[in-house]
Amino acid sequence: MKVTITSQCMGDRNCNNLCPDVFEYDEDQLKSIVKFDTIPEKYEDVVRQAARECGAEAIEIVED
Ligand code: SF4
Repeated sequence: MKVTITSQCMGDRNCNNLCPDVFEYDEDQLKSIVKFDTIPEKYEDVVRQAARECGAEAIEIVED
């Protein structure tokens, strides 16, 4: 699984709070970023949840 966060991110940090091991807020880009190139399997479910909950629909998932 690979994940990108688009410029639609509105910075409410829900994904950061849900899974800080994967998502962090980048103060320079003013959007959240993903810490991994490929998401470790143990985080896949919570990443899908973050994508569902993202009010800006900014979390894009590409499944393997
Ligand atoms: S939940 Fe969506 S809008 Fe909120 S910080 Fe994460 S990517 Fe951005």
